[in-house]
This record gives sequence, structure tokens and C-alpha cells, in this order.
Amino acid sequence: MNDQKNLLSIKNLTIHYKTGGNIVHAVDNLDLDLGHGETLGFVGETGAGKTTTALGIMGLIPNPPGKIINGQVFFKGEDLLKKKHKEMRSIRGKEIAMIFQDPMTSLDPVMNVGDQIAEMIRIHEQITKDKALEKAEVMLETVGIRKDRSKDYPHQFSGGMKQRVGIAIALACNPKLIIADEPTTALDVTIQAQVLELMKSLKEKYDTSMILITHDLGIVAEICDKVAIMYAGNVVEYSDKNSLYLNPLHPYTNGLFQSIPDIEKDVDKLNTIKGLAPDPTNLPKGCTFHPRCPKALPVCSEKKPDNVMVEPNHYVKCFLYN
Ligand code: SF4
Repeated sequence: MNDQKNLLSIKNLTIHYKTGGNIVHAVDNLDLDLGHGETLGFVGETGAGKTTTALGIMGLIPNPPGKIINGQVFFKGEDLLKKKHKEMRSIRGKEIAMIFQDPMTSLDPVMNVGDQIAEMIRIHEQITKDKALEKAEVMLETVGIRKDRSKDYPHQFSGGMKQRVGIAIALACNPKLIIADEPTTALDVTIQAQVLELMKSLKEKYDTSMILITHDLGIVAEICDKVAIMYAGNVVEYSDKNSLYLNPLHPYTNGLFQSIPDIEKDVDKLNTIKGLAPDPTNLPKGCTFHPRCPKALPVCSEKKPDNVMVEPNHYVKCFLYN
């Protein structure tokens, strides 16, 4: 058992994949905390390990080729990594639910949406099919879809409406934690705003905690309380949102902020972070960001920086703050 101050507390999580004789270091000694009712933005480039971490929490790392090498994932004080498959099946959907990036692929194309929501409810609750369908219709209305559309199939809905159905499925059993993996990336910009607003209001209504995986710092500013910046399988900066936006510390975080286009400035070229994300089968020694870092010190290519608390609720892994 772990203390229950946090709903979720990840300690030293390390996840590898074996591919063609190589080891992919997808998640490397990751620590993360999420309080009750909080929304955490999980930010980083593609391949930083955000989705692998989410799958690790859900007990969905495909083994082989994936393997959890080390760590603990405390949820409500209990280590999920010690749970049996059957126990995890009853936690998934009921206690922890996921909203996926692409509603086109996460919904079943040959089942009407009412049945899909009802099916999730009946996996976790001992109720009749009729009662589950009634609840499914209520959930549809909760996400802004008329209940008479419950007999419609996914292809009869727009992208934004499909994602609303995905949210209804995720919330159907009133989970304590929702993990939303780039939930608006596949949607038009105007629809993105509506879906985000819906997620924000439902999260408050149901008092659910949420991990929002994204590469978009604008979305994080809109709806998150805390932010974890991830680089090469590791959280390099973790902070309250306000503290991070007022005072970003890690050179990678600063690079992300500087890459955001400013519509008030007329520039020929957008800022980027120089270089490429490292090969996860061959991570650099020391700080994994050192080959790209404009402020690298001699020690950075030799040793890994510790996690330093710079102010309450603001942590950074960087020798500039040691
Ligand atoms: Fe840059 Fe060194 Fe800080 Fe890494 S530890 S981010 S290389 S200054």
C-alpha cells in the first residue's frame, strides 16, 4: 500500500520493447503524481513515451514485444502492476477509462452507439440490457447527442460526434481516472474547442481526475492544473500549470514554448528545437537532451541530472538548477 494523498502515483516506471535484437527504452525511470480531481497535461514530442506510459497504467503493454522492467503504479494506494489480469479487466473501464485519439478506429463500426455504451456498462454492472440501454441514452444526452440517435452506427456521425460517443463510453461507469490520448488531434479546430470544453465540464461534474496526453501547450493552458513535460521516456519538468507557464525552467520546455508561433509577429521562419529526438534504442549517456541543449555543461554528457524541487510543486531534471 502507498499513501493515498494522490489518486495515482508512478514510481521508477521503466518499460522496454524488444525489436529485431534492439531494446527500445520507451519509458525510463518515470515518476509522476496525480491528485484527486486534478487534470495533468502530459506533453512531449511523438515517441517521448506518453502513450506507452498510459498503456502501462492501463495494464495494456503488449508482451511481447513490450515489458515492464521496473516500477510501481499506485492507484488508490494499490500497485496496479501487482494485479492479476482478471483484476485489471475489472479496473479498466470502471475505475480507469481511456479516450483514444481517433474515434474512427476506437468505435466498433458494426455496432450501434447505444449498444456500445450499454456493453461497457454491462461489463461492470449487474443490470439488465434494457436498464443498460436506458443508461446509455442518458450518457448520450450528457455528451450532447439526442437519445433517439442511440440506434445509429458510428459512420452516421461526424468526427466530433464520434468523439463525444467515445467520451460517453469512457464516462459510462463513472471512472475515477480518465486517460485521454490526443483526444482532439483528429478533429477540426472549431470542433476541438467544443470537445475540450465538454471534457472539462464533465470532468468537473463527475469529479474525475484526468491525464491529457498532448503535444499542444495551448490545450494544456486551457484545461490542465498540472503539467509533466516528457522527453525520451522521462519526465524532465513537472509543475503547477501557472508556475510552468510563468517560469519554464528546463531548456527543452523553453524550446517547446519558443516553437509556438506568435500570430502578432511577422517572421520568415518558425523557431524549432535543433536536432532530432534521440534514438530510443541508443539513448545518449547523461542527460538525454544534451546533444540538442543550447545550455549544456560538461557534466551533462556524463551524468544524469537528479530531480530538483525549485519551488513547491515545481520540479526539474537539469544541472542548471542543481
Ligand atoms: Fe541541458 Fe544539461 Fe540541463 Fe540537460 S542537464 S537540459 S544538457 S543544461
